[in-house]
Amino acid sequence: MMENKVSLPKSSTSRDQVFAQLQKIHEVDTRWQDGRVFSLVYPMSDEHTEFLKKVYTLYFHENGLNPGAFPSLKKFESEVVSIAANLLGGGESAAGAMTSGGSESIMMAVKTYRDQARAVKHITAPEAIIPITAHPAFDKALHYFGVKLVRVPVDQNQRADLNAVKAAINPNTIFILGSAPQYPHGVMDPIADLAKLAKEHGIGMHVDACVGGFMLPFLKMLGQDIPPFDFRVDGVTSMSADLHKYGFTAKGASVVLYKDKDLRRFQFFVSKDWPGGLFASPSVTGTRPAGSIAAAWATLQAIGEEGYLKLYRELFATTQKFKTGVESIGFKVVGNPIGTLFAYQAPSDANIHVVADLMEKKGWFVDRQMNPDSIHLTITPAHPPIVDKYLADLKASYEHAKAHPELGGEGMAAMYGMVAKIPDPTMVNQFLFQYMDQRYET
Ligand SMILES: *Cc1c(COP(=O)(O)O)cnc(C)c1O
Repeated sequence: MMENKVSLPKSSTSRDQVFAQLQKIHEVDTRWQDGRVFSLVYPMSDEHTEFLKKVYTLYFHENGLNPGAFPSLKKFESEVVSIAANLLGGGESAAGAMTSGGSESIMMAVKTYRDQARAVKHITAPEAIIPITAHPAFDKALHYFGVKLVRVPVDQNQRADLNAVKAAINPNTIFILGSAPQYPHGVMDPIADLAKLAKEHGIGMHVDACVGGFMLPFLKMLGQDIPPFDFRVDGVTSMSADLHKYGFTAKGASVVLYKDKDLRRFQFFVSKDWPGGLFASPSVTGTRPAGSIAAAWATLQAIGEEGYLKLYRELFATTQKFKTGVESIGFKVVGNPIGTLFAYQAPSDANIHVVADLMEKKGWFVDRQMNPDSIHLTITPAHPPIVDKYLADLKASYEHAKAHPELGGEGMAAMYGMVAKIPDPTMVNQFLFQYMDQRYET
């Protein structure tokens, strides 16, 4: 490893030298280019990556904070929002904004519902109903904005439990959440039923399509059986969809969408009192990288419906190959995933966390999950070339794990085993806080 650099160097170093150092340090990172990572990186092709870099570089120094100075960014952002709204059945009346990512889109939706409920219904102790499989960005946003989290369980197929949602609705409920699909298992919540409930109670219904928003519309066009999940469903009042995942653009790009402008109004923040001038901001961030806004627009233009259809035809086929492959080894796919991401559980004669440890030794970056213990796969264009290699390594890892149950006491498997046995959840939180402190040690 490199020596630690903990204080600002006294002298300058040539940029060439620093860049050479950086390239060397970068060697410790997992090779996503070789399909070794499954959820953090969404590469489309070398040609597309070079295109993204070119666009991003062109807008490298501009700032999305004030489109007054950069009218082209206003055009890009409003067009990206319209394109997303049209893809997701929002039509003419839908409205939205670009954000830096799924978490920020979700934060803005939470703030919007909170402020709307406060202004219109005078709700001062707001609550939101969130299935346990929803992305933790909801827990986080509700925590940040002082909205009570009401968790509801899922059924055996990992879909939000409708009766539990129904029972949890009360006069303080501001919105219900459904995911299309949820991240852990790629399973779709019963969106139409949830939206119907929301409508009956006059409350909001947010569909989190962060991972599915730029995938499901194309799978549907390809003839896959995708249940209605977007603004075409009566009762859906807002959605989030990430461009920097399955939209295949540069990181820092997502959209939050609302049924209409009146609802979006509650998202904005304005201040007239600052000596620095009148201030109006759509979302959490102030300064916004223009590169990610321009890259999102350019990506949608370059790929177009034709390109996404071609891409998803291949990704869906690759996903099927992975599913059949893991099942033929003896693993079980969790629930009924509908898109290009899913999770699998180990057969009863092996510990999935031992399998994960062994896969990591073989150079795969493994996304582990709990409840149920499983491994997650998000399929991207980096993966068609490595399906067979992955499955061969998985088979070998499974055979080894089966023959060596004692490995459950080592590595990450031991940690997951321990965490699963801790009766007091606050202790797990303490452990996670410690982990965060360690993350900042040099
Ligand atoms: C990724 C994801 C998010 C959070 O998005 P970020 O861009 O990582 O902030 C929220 N919901 C779902 C379903 C996701 O897959």
